[in-house]
Amino acid sequence: MTDDIFARTRALFELPEGIVYLDGNSLGPLPRTVRERVLAEIDQGWGERLIRGWNERGWIDLQLDVGNRIARLIGAPEGSVVAADSTSVNLFKVLTAALGMAGDRKIVLSDSGNFPTDLYVAQGAVKALGQGHELKIVAPEEVEASITADVAVLMITQVDYRTGRLHDMAALTAKAHEQGVITIWDLCHSAGALPVDLAGCNVDFAIGCGYKYLNGGPGAPAFLYVRPDHADRVSPSLCGWMGHEAPFAFDLDYRPARGIDRMRVGTPAILSLAALHTALEVWDGVDMNALRRRSIVLSERFIKEVEARCPELELASPRDPSVRGSQVSFRFREGYAAMQALIAEGVIGDFRAPDIMRFGFTPLYISEADVVTAAQTLERIMRDRLWDRPEYRMRSKVT
Ligand SMILES: *Cc1c(COP(=O)(O)O)cnc(C)c1O
Repeated sequence: MTDDIFARTRALFELPEGIVYLDGNSLGPLPRTVRERVLAEIDQGWGERLIRGWNERGWIDLQLDVGNRIARLIGAPEGSVVAADSTSVNLFKVLTAALGMAGDRKIVLSDSGNFPTDLYVAQGAVKALGQGHELKIVAPEEVEASITADVAVLMITQVDYRTGRLHDMAALTAKAHEQGVITIWDLCHSAGALPVDLAGCNVDFAIGCGYKYLNGGPGAPAFLYVRPDHADRVSPSLCGWMGHEAPFAFDLDYRPARGIDRMRVGTPAILSLAALHTALEVWDGVDMNALRRRSIVLSERFIKEVEARCPELELASPRDPSVRGSQVSFRFREGYAAMQALIAEGVIGDFRAPDIMRFGFTPLYISEADVVTAAQTLERIMRDRLWDRPEYRMRSKVT
């Protein structure tokens, strides 16, 4: 039954012949219906309707429409999510909003497993606010013990981009709230990867990415969640006309819109937003618990196959699937070259410095047969030292 569902969803994607794609956690593949939608926005929207497209094709409401489709995947109520900007920019928006609610507390708590852009954004926000805030970075295992009553905001990415280690959202959020700490969860490697229950966990703010597991295309708009009871209270720091109460009144003074609308800033990239809107249709009828079960089957199988075939590789992800996201990483001294060799042989994963070979398991289009093919190819590369060629050591800009 479940397998039928995933055979159906696989058929919804354009996957190049002869490729096993284990990098949907970096850039999801193209859902078939997206091309037609984007062409329709170009031809019937931009081409024919011109400026009238904003009303006649619903462009003005698209950020909220996309937000509502994402909300269903992350346990958020209707009207609490907006698609906008990039993840980095959205983090700046929610972090400054959260700090504005945090009274005299000055500490932003995060961990060293966080994705660097999140830490950079926090450093920039602290500097821009100029109110003596401080970013405190602890080891992932120390996060829980570090949530104390002097912390303003807990800013955590749920799934570690390198190892796939999964933080306990319910437990950390509950502990934060006991200590009066506001929570921000980054769902870049969670949304579309595993069941997320923002409302059930009572999370205050969340952000995440549109181009990874949500398959919105390169540079797709990101998303942002504000807990509904905060939405009318937060004071945006990036105040733009799209977040104004009455954008077309053209008042000289900023007045925030009601609800999540105030987290909008400027004119959204409609072609990209349309692509993401249509890409999200592949989730219709997908049960996130079934997705999670299948993701675990795939990743467990991969670990078993690789460990049996490639003794040189060392598992860098948690062995216990209940504390792992939907990715598996192995360490190998020559990981970069080995990944280039693997890609040359038709199995696409990616590399994260210094030595991590990373593989994403996206059940909508990955099968167990793909997993076995990937492990067999990796075995061949290791056994025949195919990675040991100068061309595989040349670093590209994007790894
Ligand atoms: C992918 C990722 C981002 C990406 O941010 P952009 O602004 O889209 O470049 C941010 N944070 C985390 C945790 C990520 O995994």
